[in-house]
Amino acid sequence: MNVAVLEITSLPTSGLKSLTARQFTSVFPQAIACWAKAAGYDVDYQVYSGTGPLPEFNAPDILFVKTTSQCSVLAYLVAARQPAKTLTVIGGPHAICHPEECLNHFDVVVDGPCNKELILTICRREHTDSVLHSSSPTAIPSVKERWPFIQAAQGRLPFFSVIGMLSSVGCGNGCAFCIDWNARWNALPLKLLEADLQFLKTHTRRPILFQDPNVGRHLDMVLDTMESVGWKNRWAFETDLQSLTPLRLSRLKRTNCVGIGIGIESWTDYGRKVGLSQCTPQQKYARVTEHLEQVKAHIPLITANMMWPNDTDEGDLPVELTKSLIRDHADIWCVLNFPTAYNRTPLHKRLKKENRLLPLPLVFQVNGYISVIPKHYPTNEAIQKFVEFEIASETARKKAKQSLFIKFVSWIYKHGTGSTAQRLLAAMDQKEMKLFHEGRSKVIPQWYWQEYRQLLGPYAKAALALESRTAFTPIENADLIHIPQSAQ
Ligand code: SF4
Repeated sequence: MNVAVLEITSLPTSGLKSLTARQFTSVFPQAIACWAKAAGYDVDYQVYSGTGPLPEFNAPDILFVKTTSQCSVLAYLVAARQPAKTLTVIGGPHAICHPEECLNHFDVVVDGPCNKELILTICRREHTDSVLHSSSPTAIPSVKERWPFIQAAQGRLPFFSVIGMLSSVGCGNGCAFCIDWNARWNALPLKLLEADLQFLKTHTRRPILFQDPNVGRHLDMVLDTMESVGWKNRWAFETDLQSLTPLRLSRLKRTNCVGIGIGIESWTDYGRKVGLSQCTPQQKYARVTEHLEQVKAHIPLITANMMWPNDTDEGDLPVELTKSLIRDHADIWCVLNFPTAYNRTPLHKRLKKENRLLPLPLVFQVNGYISVIPKHYPTNEAIQKFVEFEIASETARKKAKQSLFIKFVSWIYKHGTGSTAQRLLAAMDQKEMKLFHEGRSKVIPQWYWQEYRQLLGPYAKAALALESRTAFTPIENADLIHIPQSAQ
């Protein structure tokens, strides 16, 4: 029996961005590859990160694919190429959000957590359900077991090569926009983490990146484990701000933590994420920036995620506060996003009820495109402000005293794409764009089909043909989607 495992981490992109995307391959596809290999299957594990052709497989018995909604059409193309004997299985964020749509293209959809038992029962073809999930895994394969797959995914890059790790799964903090909003949090055994760190200490000096959405939930235990093995390699993780107490910050510095991702999201909402249940926007700003300055004294790279515009944002104040964050705290890397209403999240349910979802293809679920109708700002103005944030951020980053490494990372982040939001803003002069973004027309404007062709590059034609053929349900209202002849 041959088992193929594929992760698609990017749309077609430049070589440099593709190399970067390869560093963020996920732990789970490698875990599936390990479980299948240990059970005696021949395993072909591949990653598509945006360059070269989509991977070919040699008529596997089972094909597991993991990807995001943005890249989902590439996964559909790969599935469509498989022979009839191949059982095609999709899991990961896109399968969680769009199980029904995935069933148009895959035999089995894993729309939630999956553990070793589930993977092996699928391999043995014991499951007949087409949509399924299991409880969260209580353990995942060690880094030592994953090592050949880590090497295969990343090659031997001399720089910017990162090892993906997990110390927990799920989150369940209830953030309305997040696909993990109700995913039960479970710590993975710290004994496994300890063994992984011991192995890595003797095999590589590469940094590690925890892919858990919220390591802060058990940061003390993770730090205890790191200290017990004398961890000194660089590492990074995501957490909520309130977990970063002064004592933990000192421990993070001692264990060589070099990067922390924090979700601020909004000045007018999500106070709980920074330890404030009720506060004014100004109070949240004061508390957050004061805390970030403390973090900065210990950790060289801080990314702060902000969404704009939130439904609770109104008037100039949220705009001014975001600009202040960017301008006055230049060495904090502010990552801006338009809100995306992922299917099956509370945000999606609410916006659907309010008719505020735009029927865009899923390939546009990426930073710089806006697929919802803002509540308190005309879309034009929301995009204009987003562009102003980007420009302010660019200016601030030039002034910031950041290491060459961090400058290099931010250059790659922007490299080759320009500002999507600036292009979008320029296109908003067109009447059909205006009508579409105001929700007065469901016809996807030509501008988007041009972008579609650019985003999907050599796969655009096949992707369009496939999406038009298979009751394409981009976000909502598939019956109202009109693909103009010229786009096809
Ligand atoms: S804390 Fe982060 S991972 Fe958890 S629900 Fe909120 S956004 Fe999602």
